[in-house]
Amino acid sequence: MTTSKEYRVLLYYHYVTIEDPEEFAKQHLKFCKEAGLKGRILVANEGINGTVSGTVEQTDKYIEMMKADPRFADMVFKIDESDEHAFKKMHVRPRKELVTLRLEDDIDPREMTGNYLSPKEFFEAMQEEDTVILDARNDYEFDLGHFKGAIRPDIKTFRELPDWIRENKDKFEGKKVLTYCTGGIRCEKFSGWLVREGFKDVGQLHGGIVTYGKDPEVQGELWDGQCYVFDGRISVPVNRKEHVIVGKDYFDGEPCERYVNCANPECNRQFLCSEENEHKFMRSCTDECRVHPRNLYVKEHNLSEDEINDRIKKIEDEKALNV
Ligand SMILES: [Zn+2]
Repeated sequence: MTTSKEYRVLLYYHYVTIEDPEEFAKQHLKFCKEAGLKGRILVANEGINGTVSGTVEQTDKYIEMMKADPRFADMVFKIDESDEHAFKKMHVRPRKELVTLRLEDDIDPREMTGNYLSPKEFFEAMQEEDTVILDARNDYEFDLGHFKGAIRPDIKTFRELPDWIRENKDKFEGKKVLTYCTGGIRCEKFSGWLVREGFKDVGQLHGGIVTYGKDPEVQGELWDGQCYVFDGRISVPVNRKEHVIVGKDYFDGEPCERYVNCANPECNRQFLCSEENEHKFMRSCTDECRVHPRNLYVKEHNLSEDEINDRIKKIEDEKALNV
């Protein structure tokens, strides 16, 4: 790999027993801070899930330290180059579980999980007959990009997925089920759950979408849009052969891949919107958010109350014209 940028973003997870997650998290945070890393790491009895950014030297040091621990010796690191840190702070948090499926009876992916498919195998399996491709992420992740023909479960968050599957079982009867997520960790558990539910042929994309996008052979083919990531970059490219935009502007439905957060700090809703519409709608998802006393857009642009009301009136006038 040629290294042209100064920073790197690491994404990794490993299911392995960590005896005292609280104590581990404390020590780990200390090490990460001393090393100058920034990011977010979850630690549980069942393992570790993290994403951190730092200089090439800092991230190398982290990988080396982890590999020296027999528990993490064979952990896979997905590495992206970056111009800067992708996080503002460093957190290491102890948790009950690494991903939340809220199962009455938890799954241990080391004991039960779907078949691991390499990017090439997944690419081929997607094109076979009697195959359903199931997106195992949240709705706003799907909306920015997904595999061609993938099913978007009608849910708000990943933890609602098992209930949704049970209600829609007929969609998958007698079919091969392929699941995918960002880095692969959610599918480890989810595909295991599918197997336990009685699905005979379950495949999961090994290493997730980010690995698929880097594979020199498939080059991200059959992916539309971008891949949502949980750091300052917000999204990364996947398909190196063609770029189809599937994201839509929250306000006018035009093709868009630019995520913003609602300027009402109490709402903070993430939505796609062009720069033009950001200004027009004061980066706020509703009128209620526009007039919120702590609206960040209003602060950033020093808008007076009259100016706010003018903008809201303009939005309403336009709405009236379109009806
Ligand atoms: Zn809002």
